Amino acid sequence: MNDRAPQCDLLCISPHTDDAEIALGGTLRLLSEKGRRVWICDLTRGELGSNGTPELRWQEAEKASKILGIAGRLQFDLPDGFISVHDPQQVALVAAVIRSLRPRWVVAAPMPNRHPDHQAIPPLVRKAAFMSRLAAWRPDLPESRLWPADAKLPEPAERWDCEAVATVCMPGDKPDMYFDISDVWESKVEALTCYASQFEPAAGTRATKINDPAFLAEVERWARGWGFKAGVRMAEALHIEAAPVAGDMPQERWS
Ligand SMILES: [Zn+2]
Repeated sequence: MNDRAPQCDLLCISPHTDDAEIALGGTLRLLSEKGRRVWICDLTRGELGSNGTPELRWQEAEKASKILGIAGRLQFDLPDGFISVHDPQQVALVAAVIRSLRPRWVVAAPMPNRHPDHQAIPPLVRKAAFMSRLAAWRPDLPESRLWPADAKLPEPAERWDCEAVATVCMPGDKPDMYFDISDVWESKVEALTCYASQFEPAAGTRATKINDPAFLAEVERWARGWGFKAGVRMAEALHIEAAPVAGDMPQERWS
């Protein structure tokens, strides 16, 4: 059904800068190393964060993007704290991004906690991925921040059908696939440390769950837990909406 070429291999969509790195940073780095074109889309500027300003958080995101080696990153200014699948304008924005970047895979990356934006992102991405297939619906693509600064978004296709629509698994979920991030774990940690405003309990900052030093240990525990299930040292896990269609027996080992 797609009449134009993909513009990226994987598009990771999350509410705030740092969510993509926490949830899927290893996979984003791994696939970038393999030459895949990986993009991150942050839907808000994180203006309700307990620490850091939107400007500082964007500078941190630029540094983290370099470490991950991704192709590009864009950020919109949807209202922090109010991400919702029930807002047609938000669905339109995400669908327009999908039609522009034309990813083979789109992945919702919620950081696993109770923040309402994190809970809202998977249904929003699922609905937008479906709506991006409907040629009769023509949402506009709003202005965004872009990294690198000279990056340009391609003209949106009339419609786009992603090969896979996925969500990063929360602890306790049953994954459909794992990515072995054992060899890129240090890079994931390095990307996370770019977000000093969020993770470092410096003087004058508000104490939060994520600037508690136990938080990074928890992120490591998740990766080791998925790794144990997958039979590797460290892993990230995805839930995928549909089963893959093979033309031969896959090369991959099943966990
Ligand atoms: Zn977040």
